[in-house]
Amino acid sequence: MTAPDQPFRTLAGMRDLLPPESGRRRDLVATFAGVVELAGYREVQPPLVEELGVFLRVGEATDVVTKEMYDFEDKDGRRVALRPELTAGVARAFVQHHPQVPWKVWYAGTNFRHERPQKGRYRSFDQVGVEVLGVDDPDLDVEVVALAWESLRRLGLERIRLLVNSIGDHDDRARYVEAVRAFLDSRRGELSEAALATAERNPLRVLDTKRAEDLAVVADAPLIAEHRSAASAAHFERVLLGLDALEIPYELAPRLVRGLDYYRRTTFELVAESLDAAQNAVGGGGRYDGLVEDLGGPPTDGIGFALGVDRILLALEAEGAPEVQPVAVEVFVVDLTDGSSARDLTHELRSAGISADRRFGGGSMRSQMKSADRSGAQWAVLIGADELESGTVTVRDLRSDAPQSPVPRTDLVAELRRRGTTT
Ligand code: AMP
Repeated sequence: MTAPDQPFRTLAGMRDLLPPESGRRRDLVATFAGVVELAGYREVQPPLVEELGVFLRVGEATDVVTKEMYDFEDKDGRRVALRPELTAGVARAFVQHHPQVPWKVWYAGTNFRHERPQKGRYRSFDQVGVEVLGVDDPDLDVEVVALAWESLRRLGLERIRLLVNSIGDHDDRARYVEAVRAFLDSRRGELSEAALATAERNPLRVLDTKRAEDLAVVADAPLIAEHRSAASAAHFERVLLGLDALEIPYELAPRLVRGLDYYRRTTFELVAESLDAAQNAVGGGGRYDGLVEDLGGPPTDGIGFALGVDRILLALEAEGAPEVQPVAVEVFVVDLTDGSSARDLTHELRSAGISADRRFGGGSMRSQMKSADRSGAQWAVLIGADELESGTVTVRDLRSDAPQSPVPRTDLVAELRRRGTTT
Protein backbone atom coordinates (compact mmCIF):
# COMPACT_ATOMS: atom_id res chain seq x y z
CA MET A 1 0.00 0.00 0.00
CA THR A 2 1.27 3.47 -0.79
CA ALA A 3 1.13 6.38 1.65
CA PRO A 4 -1.88 8.72 1.20
CA ASP A 5 -1.32 12.08 -0.57
CA GLN A 6 -2.54 13.86 2.56
CA PRO A 7 -2.13 12.52 6.12
CA PHE A 8 -5.34 10.91 7.35
CA ARG A 9 -7.61 13.02 9.53
CA THR A 10 -10.71 12.28 11.60
CA LEU A 11 -13.99 12.17 9.67
CA ALA A 12 -16.31 15.20 9.77
CA GLY A 13 -18.13 15.35 13.10
CA MET A 14 -15.71 12.90 14.77
CA ARG A 15 -13.08 14.01 17.25
CA ASP A 16 -10.01 12.67 18.97
CA LEU A 17 -10.33 12.99 22.72
CA LEU A 18 -6.88 13.87 23.94
CA PRO A 19 -5.38 14.21 27.40
CA PRO A 20 -5.97 16.01 29.67
CA GLU A 21 -9.65 16.55 28.60
CA SER A 22 -10.10 12.79 28.14
CA GLY A 23 -9.48 12.45 31.89
CA ARG A 24 -12.30 14.86 32.69
CA ARG A 25 -14.62 12.70 30.59
CA ARG A 26 -13.67 9.60 32.54
CA ASP A 27 -14.14 11.45 35.84
CA LEU A 28 -17.56 12.57 34.65
CA VAL A 29 -18.65 8.97 34.04
CA ALA A 30 -17.30 7.94 37.45
CA THR A 31 -19.22 10.75 39.20
CA PHE A 32 -22.40 9.87 37.34
CA ALA A 33 -21.97 6.19 38.23
CA GLY A 34 -21.55 7.18 41.88
CA VAL A 35 -24.83 9.11 41.91
CA VAL A 36 -26.96 6.43 40.24
CA GLU A 37 -25.36 3.42 41.95
CA LEU A 38 -26.38 5.01 45.27
CA ALA A 39 -29.95 4.64 44.02
CA GLY A 40 -29.52 0.97 43.13
CA TYR A 41 -28.81 1.25 39.39
CA ARG A 42 -26.28 -1.16 37.88
CA GLU A 43 -24.32 -0.86 34.65
CA VAL A 44 -25.39 -2.41 31.37
CA GLN A 45 -23.29 -2.38 28.20
CA PRO A 46 -25.21 -3.17 25.03
CA PRO A 47 -23.15 -3.57 21.84
CA LEU A 48 -22.34 -0.68 19.52
CA VAL A 49 -23.87 -2.47 16.55
CA GLU A 50 -27.36 -4.01 16.43
CA GLU A 51 -29.77 -5.21 13.81
CA LEU A 52 -31.20 -2.15 12.09
CA GLY A 53 -34.71 -3.20 13.17
CA VAL A 54 -33.88 -2.52 16.84
CA PHE A 55 -33.37 1.16 16.08
CA LEU A 56 -36.26 1.49 13.65
CA ARG A 57 -38.45 1.13 16.74
CA VAL A 58 -37.12 4.48 17.93
CA GLY A 59 -39.49 6.02 15.44
CA GLU A 60 -39.73 5.71 11.71
CA ALA A 61 -40.76 9.34 11.50
CA THR A 62 -37.73 10.76 13.30
CA ASP A 63 -34.64 12.32 11.75
CA VAL A 64 -32.52 10.04 13.89
CA VAL A 65 -33.91 7.05 12.01
CA THR A 66 -34.70 8.41 8.56
CA LYS A 67 -31.69 10.62 7.94
CA GLU A 68 -28.95 10.09 10.46
CA MET A 69 -28.44 6.38 10.91
CA TYR A 70 -25.05 4.82 10.25
CA ASP A 71 -26.55 1.68 8.75
CA PHE A 72 -24.93 -0.76 6.39
CA GLU A 73 -24.95 -4.35 5.26
CA ASP A 74 -22.45 -6.48 7.16
CA LYS A 75 -20.44 -9.34 5.69
CA ASP A 76 -23.31 -11.76 6.39
CA GLY A 77 -25.65 -9.61 4.32
CA ARG A 78 -27.58 -8.42 7.38
CA ARG A 79 -28.79 -4.83 7.75
CA VAL A 80 -27.09 -3.48 10.86
CA ALA A 81 -26.51 -0.03 12.35
CA LEU A 82 -24.21 1.76 14.75
CA ARG A 83 -26.39 2.74 17.69
CA PRO A 84 -27.78 6.29 17.54
CA GLU A 85 -28.84 6.08 21.22
CA LEU A 86 -28.88 3.48 23.97
CA THR A 87 -32.48 3.09 25.07
CA ALA A 88 -33.46 0.77 22.22
CA GLY A 89 -30.44 -1.48 22.87
CA VAL A 90 -31.24 -1.63 26.60
CA ALA A 91 -34.87 -2.53 25.85
CA ARG A 92 -33.70 -5.20 23.38
CA ALA A 93 -31.37 -6.61 26.09
CA PHE A 94 -34.32 -6.69 28.51
CA VAL A 95 -36.39 -8.69 26.02
CA GLN A 96 -33.50 -11.06 25.34
CA HIS A 97 -32.45 -11.79 28.95
CA HIS A 98 -35.76 -11.24 30.82
CA PRO A 99 -34.21 -10.00 34.07
CA GLN A 100 -36.32 -9.50 37.19
CA VAL A 101 -38.26 -6.29 37.31
CA PRO A 102 -37.81 -3.55 38.21
CA TRP A 103 -34.67 -3.57 36.09
CA LYS A 104 -32.73 -0.47 37.09
CA VAL A 105 -29.70 0.06 34.90
CA TRP A 106 -27.28 2.80 33.88
CA TYR A 107 -25.02 3.10 30.87
CA ALA A 108 -22.21 5.18 29.43
CA GLY A 109 -21.21 4.99 25.82
CA THR A 110 -20.75 6.40 22.36
CA ASN A 111 -23.54 6.89 19.84
CA PHE A 112 -23.45 7.78 16.15
CA ARG A 113 -25.74 10.10 14.23
CA HIS A 114 -24.99 11.48 10.79
CA GLU A 115 -25.97 15.04 11.70
CA ARG A 116 -24.67 18.33 10.38
CA PRO A 117 -21.64 18.83 12.61
CA GLN A 118 -21.35 22.03 14.66
CA LYS A 119 -20.25 22.98 18.13
CA GLY A 120 -22.09 20.72 20.55
CA ARG A 121 -23.44 18.52 17.75
CA TYR A 122 -21.20 15.72 16.59
CA ARG A 123 -21.54 12.53 14.60
CA SER A 124 -19.91 10.52 17.34
CA PHE A 125 -20.91 11.63 20.85
CA ASP A 126 -21.13 10.15 24.31
CA GLN A 127 -24.09 9.79 26.61
CA VAL A 128 -24.60 8.60 30.15
CA GLY A 129 -28.07 7.61 31.24
CA VAL A 130 -30.41 5.31 33.12
CA GLU A 131 -33.39 3.14 32.24
CA VAL A 132 -35.91 1.45 34.51
CA LEU A 133 -38.12 -1.28 33.09
CA GLY A 134 -41.17 -2.80 34.70
CA VAL A 135 -42.61 -0.09 36.95
CA ASP A 136 -45.59 2.15 36.32
CA ASP A 137 -45.44 4.34 39.39
CA PRO A 138 -45.25 8.11 39.07
CA ASP A 139 -42.91 8.16 42.06
CA LEU A 140 -40.40 6.37 39.84
CA ASP A 141 -40.67 9.25 37.38
CA VAL A 142 -39.78 11.51 40.29
CA GLU A 143 -36.76 9.33 41.16
CA VAL A 144 -35.52 9.35 37.57
CA VAL A 145 -35.98 13.09 37.02
CA ALA A 146 -34.33 13.77 40.39
CA LEU A 147 -31.34 11.60 39.43
CA ALA A 148 -30.85 13.50 36.17
CA TRP A 149 -30.99 16.79 38.07
CA GLU A 150 -28.75 15.57 40.88
CA SER A 151 -26.14 14.15 38.46
CA LEU A 152 -25.77 17.47 36.65
CA ARG A 153 -25.46 19.31 39.95
CA ARG A 154 -22.88 16.85 41.23
CA LEU A 155 -20.95 17.25 37.99
CA GLY A 156 -20.69 20.92 38.84
CA LEU A 157 -23.28 22.54 36.56
CA GLU A 158 -25.07 25.44 38.21
CA ARG A 159 -26.94 27.25 35.48
CA ILE A 160 -29.35 24.54 34.38
CA ARG A 161 -33.12 24.47 33.96
CA LEU A 162 -35.39 21.47 34.16
CA LEU A 163 -38.34 21.50 31.77
CA VAL A 164 -41.18 19.05 32.38
CA ASN A 165 -44.27 18.03 30.46
CA SER A 166 -46.58 15.06 30.05
CA ILE A 167 -47.59 14.11 26.54
CA GLY A 168 -50.28 11.77 27.80
CA ASP A 169 -50.76 8.09 27.12
CA HIS A 170 -50.93 6.39 23.75
CA ASP A 171 -54.46 7.50 22.93
CA ASP A 172 -53.99 11.03 24.27
CA ARG A 173 -50.90 11.39 22.16
CA ALA A 174 -52.67 10.10 19.06
CA ARG A 175 -55.53 12.58 19.59
CA TYR A 176 -53.04 15.34 20.18
CA VAL A 177 -51.06 14.52 17.03
CA GLU A 178 -54.28 14.86 15.02
CA ALA A 179 -55.14 18.15 16.69
CA VAL A 180 -51.68 19.54 15.96
CA ARG A 181 -51.82 18.24 12.39
CA ALA A 182 -55.15 19.98 11.80
CA PHE A 183 -53.87 23.17 13.40
CA LEU A 184 -50.68 23.24 11.30
CA ASP A 185 -52.74 22.57 8.20
CA SER A 186 -54.95 25.56 8.98
CA ARG A 187 -51.81 27.77 9.17
CA ARG A 188 -49.90 26.27 6.21
CA GLY A 189 -49.34 29.64 4.57
CA GLU A 190 -47.35 30.96 7.53
CA LEU A 191 -45.00 28.00 8.00
CA SER A 192 -41.52 27.51 6.53
CA GLU A 193 -40.91 24.83 3.87
CA ALA A 194 -38.91 22.84 6.42
CA ALA A 195 -41.73 22.96 8.96
CA LEU A 196 -44.24 21.82 6.35
CA ALA A 197 -42.03 18.85 5.47
CA THR A 198 -41.67 17.95 9.16
CA ALA A 199 -45.43 18.33 9.67
CA GLU A 200 -46.01 15.68 6.98
CA ARG A 201 -43.88 13.14 8.81
CA ASN A 202 -44.24 14.07 12.47
CA PRO A 203 -46.42 17.06 13.38
CA LEU A 204 -45.25 17.13 17.02
CA ARG A 205 -41.68 17.81 15.93
CA VAL A 206 -42.79 21.15 14.50
CA LEU A 207 -43.51 22.22 18.09
CA ASP A 208 -39.78 21.80 18.82
CA THR A 209 -38.84 24.31 16.15
CA LYS A 210 -36.13 26.87 16.74
CA ARG A 211 -36.95 28.85 13.56
CA ALA A 212 -38.26 32.33 14.33
CA GLU A 213 -40.82 32.31 11.48
CA ASP A 214 -42.41 29.09 12.77
CA LEU A 215 -42.27 30.06 16.43
CA ALA A 216 -45.04 32.61 15.98
CA VAL A 217 -47.39 29.95 14.62
CA VAL A 218 -46.34 27.35 17.18
CA ALA A 219 -47.20 29.78 19.97
CA ASP A 220 -50.89 29.33 19.04
CA ALA A 221 -50.77 25.51 18.72
CA PRO A 222 -53.12 23.41 20.83
CA LEU A 223 -51.71 22.15 24.12
CA ILE A 224 -51.49 18.53 25.18
CA ALA A 225 -53.08 19.47 28.50
CA GLU A 226 -56.37 19.82 26.63
CA HIS A 227 -56.09 16.22 25.39
CA ARG A 228 -54.81 14.39 28.49
CA SER A 229 -57.03 11.67 29.93
CA ALA A 230 -57.94 11.82 33.63
CA ALA A 231 -55.48 8.97 34.35
CA SER A 232 -52.53 10.68 32.64
CA ALA A 233 -53.43 13.98 34.28
CA ALA A 234 -53.39 12.27 37.72
CA HIS A 235 -50.06 10.59 36.92
CA PHE A 236 -48.56 13.94 35.97
CA GLU A 237 -49.91 15.64 39.08
CA ARG A 238 -48.29 13.03 41.30
CA VAL A 239 -44.96 13.55 39.46
CA LEU A 240 -45.07 17.30 40.03
CA LEU A 241 -46.04 16.81 43.66
CA GLY A 242 -42.98 14.57 44.11
CA LEU A 243 -40.62 17.06 42.50
CA ASP A 244 -42.00 19.73 44.83
CA ALA A 245 -41.47 17.43 47.82
CA LEU A 246 -37.82 16.83 46.82
CA GLU A 247 -37.39 20.55 46.18
CA ILE A 248 -36.28 20.00 42.60
CA PRO A 249 -36.96 23.23 40.72
CA TYR A 250 -38.77 22.68 37.43
CA GLU A 251 -40.62 24.65 34.80
CA LEU A 252 -43.70 23.38 33.03
CA ALA A 253 -43.05 23.22 29.29
CA PRO A 254 -46.42 22.49 27.68
CA ARG A 255 -44.87 22.16 24.19
CA LEU A 256 -41.97 19.89 25.11
CA VAL A 257 -42.45 16.74 23.02
CA ARG A 258 -38.89 15.39 22.55
CA GLY A 259 -37.57 13.91 19.36
CA LEU A 260 -38.10 10.20 19.62
CA ASP A 261 -41.47 8.65 18.92
CA TYR A 262 -41.75 6.21 21.77
CA TYR A 263 -42.26 8.69 24.60
CA ARG A 264 -45.47 8.60 26.65
CA ARG A 265 -46.60 10.64 29.62
CA THR A 266 -43.70 12.26 31.53
CA THR A 267 -41.12 13.94 29.30
CA PHE A 268 -38.36 16.23 30.49
CA GLU A 269 -35.35 18.07 29.26
CA LEU A 270 -32.38 19.72 30.95
CA VAL A 271 -31.11 22.90 29.43
CA ALA A 272 -27.80 24.66 30.12
CA GLU A 273 -28.23 28.42 30.16
CA SER A 274 -24.54 28.92 29.39
CA LEU A 275 -24.84 27.27 25.94
CA ASP A 276 -26.17 28.68 22.65
CA ALA A 277 -29.89 28.09 22.32
CA ALA A 278 -29.59 25.77 19.30
CA GLN A 279 -27.48 23.24 21.23
CA ASN A 280 -28.34 23.91 24.84
CA ALA A 281 -30.05 20.63 25.76
CA VAL A 282 -27.66 18.72 27.99
CA GLY A 283 -30.07 15.87 28.53
CA GLY A 284 -33.58 14.61 28.32
CA GLY A 285 -35.79 11.65 28.93
CA GLY A 286 -39.18 10.35 29.75
CA ARG A 287 -41.53 7.39 29.84
CA TYR A 288 -41.66 5.11 26.88
CA ASP A 289 -44.34 2.58 27.62
CA GLY A 290 -44.67 0.39 24.54
CA LEU A 291 -41.05 0.16 23.42
CA VAL A 292 -40.40 -3.29 24.92
CA GLU A 293 -43.51 -4.64 23.20
CA ASP A 294 -42.38 -3.16 19.91
CA LEU A 295 -39.16 -5.14 20.32
CA GLY A 296 -41.03 -8.41 20.85
CA GLY A 297 -41.29 -8.46 24.66
CA PRO A 298 -44.24 -8.43 27.07
CA PRO A 299 -46.05 -5.15 27.80
CA THR A 300 -43.55 -3.34 30.03
CA ASP A 301 -43.42 0.20 31.34
CA GLY A 302 -40.16 2.03 30.89
CA ILE A 303 -38.60 5.33 31.79
CA GLY A 304 -35.12 6.78 31.47
CA PHE A 305 -32.94 9.68 30.48
CA ALA A 306 -29.74 10.35 28.58
CA LEU A 307 -27.32 13.14 29.30
CA GLY A 308 -24.96 14.39 26.58
CA VAL A 309 -21.42 14.12 27.92
CA ASP A 310 -19.92 16.43 25.28
CA ARG A 311 -22.45 19.15 26.01
CA ILE A 312 -22.02 18.85 29.77
CA LEU A 313 -18.29 19.42 29.29
CA LEU A 314 -18.97 22.41 27.03
CA ALA A 315 -21.41 23.82 29.58
CA LEU A 316 -18.92 23.36 32.43
CA GLU A 317 -16.36 25.24 30.38
CA ALA A 318 -18.87 27.99 29.57
CA GLU A 319 -19.71 28.28 33.28
CA GLY A 320 -16.02 28.87 33.96
CA ALA A 321 -15.08 25.55 35.55
CA PRO A 322 -11.32 25.39 36.17
CA GLU A 323 -9.30 23.96 33.31
CA VAL A 324 -8.26 20.36 33.63
CA GLN A 325 -4.71 20.07 34.82
CA PRO A 326 -2.53 17.43 33.18
CA VAL A 327 -1.96 14.50 35.51
CA ALA A 328 1.74 14.22 36.31
CA VAL A 329 3.60 11.16 37.58
CA GLU A 330 5.01 11.45 41.09
CA VAL A 331 8.49 10.13 40.50
CA PHE A 332 10.90 10.35 37.56
CA VAL A 333 13.81 7.94 37.56
CA VAL A 334 17.07 9.28 36.13
CA ASP A 335 19.46 6.46 35.35
CA LEU A 336 23.00 7.50 34.40
CA THR A 337 24.22 3.92 34.01
CA ASP A 338 22.90 1.46 31.44
CA GLY A 339 19.15 1.90 32.01
CA SER A 340 18.56 -1.37 33.90
CA SER A 341 17.99 0.47 37.18
CA ALA A 342 15.39 2.74 35.55
CA ARG A 343 13.70 -0.35 34.12
CA ASP A 344 13.64 -2.15 37.48
CA LEU A 345 12.88 0.82 39.73
CA THR A 346 9.93 2.13 37.70
CA HIS A 347 8.47 -1.37 37.84
CA GLU A 348 9.04 -1.61 41.58
CA LEU A 349 7.53 1.82 42.28
CA ARG A 350 4.46 1.15 40.12
CA SER A 351 3.95 -2.22 41.84
CA ALA A 352 3.90 -0.30 45.12
CA GLY A 353 1.25 2.02 43.67
CA ILE A 354 3.56 5.01 43.16
CA SER A 355 3.30 6.52 39.69
CA ALA A 356 6.67 6.64 38.00
CA ASP A 357 8.21 7.31 34.62
CA ARG A 358 11.68 7.49 33.08
CA ARG A 359 13.42 8.50 29.91
CA PHE A 360 14.07 5.81 27.36
CA GLY A 361 17.28 5.80 25.39
CA GLY A 362 19.38 7.21 28.26
CA GLY A 363 21.06 10.55 27.66
CA SER A 364 23.13 12.97 29.69
CA MET A 365 22.26 14.01 33.24
CA ARG A 366 21.17 17.37 31.86
CA SER A 367 18.79 15.97 29.27
CA GLN A 368 17.32 13.42 31.67
CA MET A 369 16.74 16.13 34.30
CA LYS A 370 15.00 18.20 31.63
CA SER A 371 12.68 15.26 30.94
CA ALA A 372 12.10 14.93 34.68
CA ASP A 373 11.11 18.60 34.91
CA ARG A 374 8.84 18.37 31.90
CA SER A 375 7.09 15.30 33.36
CA GLY A 376 5.79 17.40 36.26
CA ALA A 377 7.04 14.82 38.77
CA GLN A 378 7.63 15.93 42.33
CA TRP A 379 10.70 13.77 42.90
CA ALA A 380 13.63 12.65 40.80
CA VAL A 381 15.33 9.43 41.80
CA LEU A 382 18.91 9.44 40.51
CA ILE A 383 21.19 6.48 40.03
CA GLY A 384 24.76 6.92 38.84
CA ALA A 385 27.82 4.70 39.10
CA ASP A 386 28.40 5.69 42.76
CA GLU A 387 24.85 4.87 43.83
CA LEU A 388 25.01 1.58 41.98
CA GLU A 389 28.22 0.74 43.79
CA SER A 390 26.86 1.61 47.24
CA GLY A 391 23.37 0.16 46.78
CA THR A 392 21.71 3.58 47.19
CA VAL A 393 19.66 6.03 45.16
CA THR A 394 19.55 9.82 45.45
CA VAL A 395 16.15 11.41 45.99
CA ARG A 396 15.78 15.02 44.84
CA ASP A 397 12.70 17.14 45.46
CA LEU A 398 12.13 18.94 42.16
CA ARG A 399 9.76 21.49 43.67
CA SER A 400 11.99 22.77 46.45
CA ASP A 401 15.60 23.56 47.17
CA ALA A 402 15.80 20.98 49.95
CA PRO A 403 19.16 19.19 49.84
CA GLN A 404 19.06 15.86 48.07
CA SER A 405 19.77 12.79 50.10
CA PRO A 406 21.03 9.27 49.48
CA VAL A 407 18.64 6.51 50.45
CA PRO A 408 19.35 2.77 50.54
CA ARG A 409 17.76 1.37 47.42
CA THR A 410 15.77 -1.15 49.42
CA ASP A 411 14.21 1.71 51.43
CA LEU A 412 13.15 3.81 48.45
CA VAL A 413 9.44 2.99 48.54
CA ALA A 414 9.24 3.58 52.31
CA GLU A 415 11.17 6.85 51.97
CA LEU A 416 8.89 8.15 49.20
CA ARG A 417 5.83 7.26 51.25
CA ARG A 418 7.33 9.07 54.21
CA ARG A 419 7.76 12.12 51.99
CA GLY A 420 4.12 11.98 51.05
CA THR A 421 3.35 10.21 47.78
CA THR A 422 -0.36 9.77 47.33
CA THR A 423 -0.31 6.06 48.20
P1 AMP B 1 -31.53 12.38 22.63
O1 AMP B 1 -31.00 10.96 22.66
O2 AMP B 1 -31.65 12.93 21.24
O3 AMP B 1 -32.70 12.58 23.50
O4 AMP B 1 -30.37 13.26 23.27
C1 AMP B 1 -30.05 13.29 24.65
C2 AMP B 1 -28.88 14.23 24.85
O5 AMP B 1 -27.75 13.76 24.12
C3 AMP B 1 -29.12 15.63 24.29
O6 AMP B 1 -29.75 16.44 25.26
C4 AMP B 1 -27.72 16.11 24.01
O7 AMP B 1 -27.11 16.61 25.19
C5 AMP B 1 -26.99 14.84 23.61
N1 AMP B 1 -26.89 14.73 22.13
C6 AMP B 1 -27.82 14.27 21.26
N2 AMP B 1 -27.34 14.31 19.99
C7 AMP B 1 -26.07 14.80 20.06
C8 AMP B 1 -25.04 15.07 19.11
N3 AMP B 1 -25.20 14.84 17.81
N4 AMP B 1 -23.87 15.58 19.55
C9 AMP B 1 -23.67 15.81 20.88
N5 AMP B 1 -24.59 15.56 21.82
C10 AMP B 1 -25.78 15.07 21.44
